[in-house]
Amino acid sequence: MATMNILVAVCLVYVTFLFAVAFGAERAARQGQGGWLRSPLVYTLSLSIYCTAWTFYGAVGYAARSGMEYLTIYIGPTLVMIGWWWCLRKLVRIGRTQRVTSIADLISSRYGKSNLLAIGVTVLAVIGTTPYIALQLQSVTLSFSVFADASESNGALADMDSTALLVAMGLALFTILFGTRNLDVNERHHGVVIAIAVEAIVKLFALLCVGAFVVWGVVGGVDEMMARIDASEIGHWQMRGDRWASLIFLSAAAFLCLPRMFQVMVVENDDEGHLRTASWAFPAYLMVMSLFVVPIAVTGLDLLPEGSNPDLFVLTLPLAMGKEGLAMLSFIGGFSSATSMVIVAALALSTMVSNHIVMPIWLSLTGSGAMVSGDVRNVVIMARRFSIAGVVVLGYLYFRFSGGGAALASIGLVSFAGVAQFLPVLLGGVFWRGATRVGAFTGLSVGFVVWVYCLLLPSFGPDVLMPTQIMQEGLFGWSWLRPQALFGIEGIDPMVHAILWSISLNGLSFVLASMLGFPTPLERLQGAQFVNVYEHSSTPQSWSGNAAQSEDLMIMSQRILGAREAQALFESEARRQGVSGYLPDTTPDFLQALERALSGSVGTATAHAMIGQIVGGASVSVEDLLAVADETAQMMEYSNRLEAKSEEQARTARQLRQANEKLQQISVQKDAFLSQVSHELRTPMTSIRAFSEILRDSEKLSETEQVKYASIIHDEALRLTRLLDDLLDLSVLENGQVNLNIQQGQLSRVLDHAIASALTGSGQEGLKISRDTAQETVLLSTDLDRLSQVFINLISNARKYCDAEVPELVLRVTHRDDTILIDFIDNGSGISKNDQAVIFEKFARVGAMRAGGAGLGLAICREIMARLGGSVSYLPGQGGAAFRVILPASSAMAAQ
Ligand code: ADP
Repeated sequence: MATMNILVAVCLVYVTFLFAVAFGAERAARQGQGGWLRSPLVYTLSLSIYCTAWTFYGAVGYAARSGMEYLTIYIGPTLVMIGWWWCLRKLVRIGRTQRVTSIADLISSRYGKSNLLAIGVTVLAVIGTTPYIALQLQSVTLSFSVFADASESNGALADMDSTALLVAMGLALFTILFGTRNLDVNERHHGVVIAIAVEAIVKLFALLCVGAFVVWGVVGGVDEMMARIDASEIGHWQMRGDRWASLIFLSAAAFLCLPRMFQVMVVENDDEGHLRTASWAFPAYLMVMSLFVVPIAVTGLDLLPEGSNPDLFVLTLPLAMGKEGLAMLSFIGGFSSATSMVIVAALALSTMVSNHIVMPIWLSLTGSGAMVSGDVRNVVIMARRFSIAGVVVLGYLYFRFSGGGAALASIGLVSFAGVAQFLPVLLGGVFWRGATRVGAFTGLSVGFVVWVYCLLLPSFGPDVLMPTQIMQEGLFGWSWLRPQALFGIEGIDPMVHAILWSISLNGLSFVLASMLGFPTPLERLQGAQFVNVYEHSSTPQSWSGNAAQSEDLMIMSQRILGAREAQALFESEARRQGVSGYLPDTTPDFLQALERALSGSVGTATAHAMIGQIVGGASVSVEDLLAVADETAQMMEYSNRLEAKSEEQARTARQLRQANEKLQQISVQKDAFLSQVSHELRTPMTSIRAFSEILRDSEKLSETEQVKYASIIHDEALRLTRLLDDLLDLSVLENGQVNLNIQQGQLSRVLDHAIASALTGSGQEGLKISRDTAQETVLLSTDLDRLSQVFINLISNARKYCDAEVPELVLRVTHRDDTILIDFIDNGSGISKNDQAVIFEKFARVGAMRAGGAGLGLAICREIMARLGGSVSYLPGQGGAAFRVILPASSAMAAQ
C-alpha cells in the first residue's frame, strides 16, 4: 500500500525541513541577526528534549500499566524548575564563568581540573545514555512497524534492523553537520537548538491532536471521558508512597544530571534571565504534554484488542479508527521526540568523549611540540565527529543485541538511575567546599557499582547477564549481597531498592572520603570559585606566566580557536594592557582568560594542561594559596580592590615605559635622520660630480667610456630622484596635504598590478606568489594608486628580504565584519620582536641590509594607509615575516 511510501516521504520532507531551519538559524546567527534565536521561549522549548519518545509513547504505556505513577516523571523536573533560584541558577552561573562544556567538564573542573574524574564521568554517562539512545531507535522502528503491519506490505520494511540503522545514520549525520561545523568557544549550537525547539512544538501539537481526537472524536466529550476513566482500573490504581517519592527524586536528579539536559540547560544557555521564564513555562509545557495521557491510555485499553502494546496506543488508536493522517502526525511527533533526544545526547557525549578521552590521549602521544606545529583544531573536530558516530553506533548495537524487548519505561528508568549517580558529586561540588576529588571518585565508583549490580544487570532479565542463582542467593552465596535485597533488607520494590542504596551509599562514601582526605590547592581554589560563584565571578590568579612566550601561545591558540578568533582575543588583550600590536604580556589575568577561551574547545582540564606545557612551571602560585586562605568575603573584596588598583598602576607604568622607549628611539632616529639624508644624498652626488668632471676634463675618452660614465651619472641621478621623491612623498603624507584620487576597482586588479610591478625589473628572482582569487573579488572605492603603492612595497620587500631557499609569498584576503584584511606572509625568517617595533620608522633598516633600500618604504606605507583610513601592521606568529593591511568598511563597496 501507499502508506509506507508516504510515511517515508513525509519523514524525509520533515528532516529536510529541520535541516533548512537549522541552516537558516546558523546563517542568521552568523550575520548577527539571530537575537530571537536566543529568546527565553526558544530556551524553554529546547528543554523539552527531556520529553523523549519515552514520554511521547511510553507515558501512555506507563499509565496503562501503573496508573498515575507516570506523573512522577513530570513532577521531578517541575520541582527543579520551580526551585531554580536555589540550584539551577548557580549551575548556569558556574557554567558561564568557568566556560564549562559538559557535566564531565564541570565535575572535573570543580575537583581540581582532574582529567581522571572527567574520564570516569564520561564513561558513566556513555553507559547510562546508550540504552536510552537504543530506546529511541526502538521507538522509531516500532512505530514504523505499526504502519508496516497496518499496510500489510511487510516485504519492503520487514527488516527493522535496517530501518534502525538508517535512522541512526541519518541522526549521526545531522549531528555531525550542525554540531561540528566549527568550534565555538562557548560550545553553543544555534542550528541544533532551534531545530529541537521546532521539534518540541511538533511533538506537543501531535500529542494534543491525538488527545483531542480521542476525547471528542472517539469518546464524545469530557464528561464521558471522566466516566470512562472512573470505570477503568487506572482510576483505582493504588498510589505507592515509596515508589512515588523515589521516582520523583529520581527524575529530578536525572533532569539535572542527564548529559543532554545539562547541554541545553547550562551549556547552551546564554542568559541567566531565561531561567526565570523557563521556571514556569517548562512545567506548563510538561503539564500540557501529560494532559491527555490518561484518556488515551483508558480508551486504548477499552477499544483495542487484548494484548495490544500500550506503548503504541498514541499511534494505534488513530490507525484503528481509520484516521491515517492523524496517525501520521502522531508518528512525526514520536519521530521528533526520538530524534531531538539522540541529536543532543550525541552532541553532549561527543564533547565529553573528545575533550576528556581522545584529546588527552592525542596530546600525550604527540607531546607539546605538536601543539605548536600540528593542527589541533582539526584533530578536535575529527575527534568530535568520530565520537558522535561512535555514540550513535553504540546505541544501535545495544538496540540490536538487547533485542529491544523490554517495556520502554523500564529502560528509561534504568538510565535515569545511572546518571543520577552524578548528583551527590554535583551538588556537593557546588554547595560544599570540603568536597574533594578523592571523595568524588569514591562516591561515583560506589554508586556506579551498586547501580550496575542492583539495577542494570538484573534489568536484562533473569539469566541474561545476571544468573538467577545470584539473584536468589547473593554473590558468592552471601545472602546479604542479593541484588534486590542488599544487607538483607527485603520486600522493597526493586527500583526503589536500587535507587535508595546506590544514591545513599554513593553520597555517604563521597562525604566520608572527602572528610578523611585533604584537598589539593587547586581543588580548594576551584571549590571556592564554585561554591561562592556569586561573590566573586572575577577570577583567581592561577598562572604565574612570566616565563611564557606569548608568540607560542598565539600560535597554539590559532590552531585551536582559528586564526581570526585568536588574533582578535590577543589584540583586544594587548589593547587592554596598553601594549601596541598583537602580542600582549603574559599576565596571569591574560593566561586565565586564554585558558577559559581554549576550554570552550578542548575542555578545562586539557586547556589547563596545554597552557601549562607552554608556560611551564607550577600552576599554582603562592598568591593562589594566599587567595585560598583568604576565605572571608571582606578579605576577598579588599584584596580584589588592591589587585585592581595595582593592576591599573602596572598598566599605566607599562604604557609610560613604552611611550618613553618610543620617544627615545624617535629622538635617536631624528638625529640620525639629518645625517642619514645628507649621507644618502652625498653618495650619489659625489659620484655624479666625479664622473662629470672626468667627462668635462679629459679629451681622450673613447666612445664606450663616454657612454659608460654618462650612464653611471644617469643611474645615480635616478637614484637621487627616487630618494628625493620618497622623501617628498613622505613629507607630503605626514603633513596631511595629500589629495586622494578616489576611484573604484576590483581588489584583485590592484593586486595583479602590484605583483606585476613589484616583480618586473630586477630579474624576477623566483618569488613564488600564492593567492586565493575567490576571496579577492571585492569592489573597492579608494585611492587605488596609493593602495597599489603599498602592495608593491610589501611585495618587493618580500622579494628583497625573504631569505628562504625557495621564497614564497602568500596573499590571504579575509573579510572581518565589514573590514577587509589583506595579509602578506612570506616564508623567510621573519622579523624579531624588538625590530617589529621600529621597522615602520623612517630609515629603519634591520637585519642584514642586503638590498640596501633607504628604509623609507614601510614608513610611507604606514602614512598612506593612515590617509586611506586603514592601517598596516606587522602580524606576529605566522612563521615568516607577515604584514597585515586593513581596509576600512567605507572602502569596500559590497562583496560580490
Ligand atoms: P626599504 O624601503 O629600504 O625596503 P622598508 O621600510 O620597506 O625599507 O623596510 C624596513 C626594513 O624592514 C628592511 O630593511 C628589512 O630589514 C625589514 N623588512 C621589511 N620587509 C621584510 C620582509 N618581508 N622580510 C624580512 N625583513 C623585512
